[in-house]
Amino acid sequence: MPPVNKAIVFLGPEDCYGPCGCGMDMAILPVLVPKDWYLEECPPEVANDFFCMGEDFRRICGFSINNVFEYEMNGVEYFANFSCCRECAERAVSQGYAVWADRDYPMSLR
Ligand SMILES: [Zn+2]
Repeated sequence: MPPVNKAIVFLGPEDCYGPCGCGMDMAILPVLVPKDWYLEECPPEVANDFFCMGEDFRRICGFSINNVFEYEMNGVEYFANFSCCRECAERAVSQGYAVWADRDYPMSLR
């Protein structure tokens, strides 16, 4: 079985994207979430930590989820317009289901 893909956390652009899924802070860091997590399987820690489960205002407008963008990077498909707080990002990286981005947030997604 191929390894489960990891989410990618970007250090910027920092903004207030909405409440973080953890409920402790505002989500300020943009994240690309692997499409696999939604279509196949999601690491159990992701659900336990409520990682990227906040209501990012770029994605959720009123009661409808209308702005989920797909983005491909290094042959992996992601969903954009997710976000989390710094603490969740650090936890996600230390738990091993996310990595820090080694580049800037894609221009096409800004
Ligand atoms: Zn958080």
